[in-house]
Amino acid sequence: MAVDLEPLDQALETAHLPALSAALVHLTGETSWLRPEWRPTYTPLSRGETGVPEAEQAKMRAAAKAAITAYLTGKAPMAAIPSPEVLHQMMNFVAGADIPEGYGDFLTDELAIDGHSTKDPNWSTPELKAAARKLNVLVVGAGMSGLLAAIRLTQAGVPFEIVDKNPDVGGTWLENTYPGCRVDSSNHIYSYSFEPNHFWPQHFSTQPVLLDYFRGVAGRYDLKKKVRFETVVEEMAWDEARSVWKVRLKTPSGIEHVEANAVITAVGQLNRPRFPDIKGRESFRGPSFHSAEWRHDVDLTGKRVAVIGTGASAFQFVPEIVGKVASLSVFQRTPPWGFPVPHYHEDVPEGMNWLMEHVPFYDKWYRFWMFWMVTDGLLPMVTADPDWTGPTTAVSQLNLGFREMIAAAIAAQAPDRPDLVAKIIPTYPPGGKRALLDNGVWLDALKRDNVELVTDAISEVTASGIVTADGQARDFDVIIYGTGFHASKFLWPMKIKGRQGADLHETWAGDPRAYLGMTTPGFPNLFMIYGPNTNIVVNGSIVFFSECSVRYILGCLKLLAQTGAAAMEPKREVHDAFNIRVDEGNRLMAWGAPQVTSWYKNEAGRVTQNWPFALVDYWRATLAPDPKDFILTKSAELVE
Ligand code: NAP
Repeated sequence: MAVDLEPLDQALETAHLPALSAALVHLTGETSWLRPEWRPTYTPLSRGETGVPEAEQAKMRAAAKAAITAYLTGKAPMAAIPSPEVLHQMMNFVAGADIPEGYGDFLTDELAIDGHSTKDPNWSTPELKAAARKLNVLVVGAGMSGLLAAIRLTQAGVPFEIVDKNPDVGGTWLENTYPGCRVDSSNHIYSYSFEPNHFWPQHFSTQPVLLDYFRGVAGRYDLKKKVRFETVVEEMAWDEARSVWKVRLKTPSGIEHVEANAVITAVGQLNRPRFPDIKGRESFRGPSFHSAEWRHDVDLTGKRVAVIGTGASAFQFVPEIVGKVASLSVFQRTPPWGFPVPHYHEDVPEGMNWLMEHVPFYDKWYRFWMFWMVTDGLLPMVTADPDWTGPTTAVSQLNLGFREMIAAAIAAQAPDRPDLVAKIIPTYPPGGKRALLDNGVWLDALKRDNVELVTDAISEVTASGIVTADGQARDFDVIIYGTGFHASKFLWPMKIKGRQGADLHETWAGDPRAYLGMTTPGFPNLFMIYGPNTNIVVNGSIVFFSECSVRYILGCLKLLAQTGAAAMEPKREVHDAFNIRVDEGNRLMAWGAPQVTSWYKNEAGRVTQNWPFALVDYWRATLAPDPKDFILTKSAELVE
């Protein structure tokens, strides 16, 4: 059917022109779309302004209109896939930078220009297909990562079952329904690489939209029939003799036992709400709840409300509730950094979606640009200079400049309220904690007459309200805890017993570690997605990490299938050496700085959550497992 070209003019007005130039190289085979006068220059944290003069942009749009029209009316066929050299030129052009050596493969793979990616399982030989069918995998969790694992296991032909404690798929996007909940990585990268959505309504979509997306994917891959809902893994124990995990499930109809050759945990890092240990917390007689367990039955209209915590969740729900409450007291222990992102709540222009849908490769190059701009491109800003002798509010000269830029953007939002600005500009370096996206609504909320930002420490919760360290008692009708999650307690509260009955949590002793975030010695065939040290602070989308992890885990299962081994676990020395590297890396990042406290660190102060390196490093490290890193066992016999 002929494409209606009427929206094209308007679409070109909204286009990210460098991404469109790259798409036009595909369409026409001409590299003249990459001419120097159209090459962008970006500023940090810009929303894509290219710095290209308007007259040049107009020329580019006119040429694009002709080329797109010719293609969509069938007058010009699609050219051949560009050579690797040309692809590299296209990357440099769209990024407005010379993409460093080593990134080419990674980004080409992420784009899947020829429709293939290293992330697609390739279990094509009859031997592998037969071996795959003998495996039996249990996936724990049907959120973003669990669904992804299920898709890849299906593609590989490996039998599996998923269990999830919830009544539906979606994980975090099912559970977090607080007002204003939305993703804070752009949707064009916070989505599976192989399941693009050309119709995101907003750049950073709201929770219902995200839930719809994941439900839609589950539907397209027919995954729901593979999920046992409202089913909780209580305990799993490795059966040494038979090389299987024996798993105790709590199901709606009682306790059940199942067995699996391998278990993939996909339970997230931010799943178990954490209430603070504040004296008297239980004594409050009004409703009180956690942001991740929002009480929609509690009408906040006209109520005196307290919010404890000013992290990512509170940053989103406070501006949403402030208009209906009688009064709001926000208790802030440490202010968050909010990076200026004016379009945070804006719709994706219709024209942009039209281009994604009708101009081949535009979506891929737009995604590429996002990847580059908001991922590894930001790392230098938050990397510590080991010789830094400047103020502890920064970790390097670059970080200090970054700090001044963001602080100025915050201060500019409230020139008449220096008192408030002084309270909300953090004293720790930017990048020390998760940076939030700031379009001004947070400060607008705090500036309202019915809102008070309390920075005195909380000493007690009483039956009627909250008492602060200065002795002041405030009465409330409702208390909302935006106090985060038990992030460091990976896989808790599951009980996991590995070789010789060793308990995983006792083994970790509050300091979870894993090789590449996925495997750990003594716990064969236990594979974690979003495990220790796989969280990212500034560089990108966790969907990318999960895709890399799942590729690697499928690689591990393939290794079992190819070798006939029954079990695999990382060698202790490989695991330990990896963790030493990770610790060294984290010490050199803003979030590892000693003056920073956050959920990224465990009680001993070690960063248990974050990946300190570039995305490309994780991509490369997880291409495929190196058999030399593992102990493979067949019954009790070594298979190396
Ligand atoms: P969070 O970032 O851990 O924030 C918890 C807040 O509670 C912090 O301000 C913390 O202060 C405060 N707090 C904790 N214990 C306290 C106590 N005893 N007294 C006073 N204040 C206390 O939790 P979150 O906001 O739920 O976010 C957690 C993570 O979830 C985020 O970092 C992000 O990765 C993810 N998230 C993402 C999105 C998104 O993508 N849109 C949205 C929400 C959450 P301190 O800083 O002093 O500890």
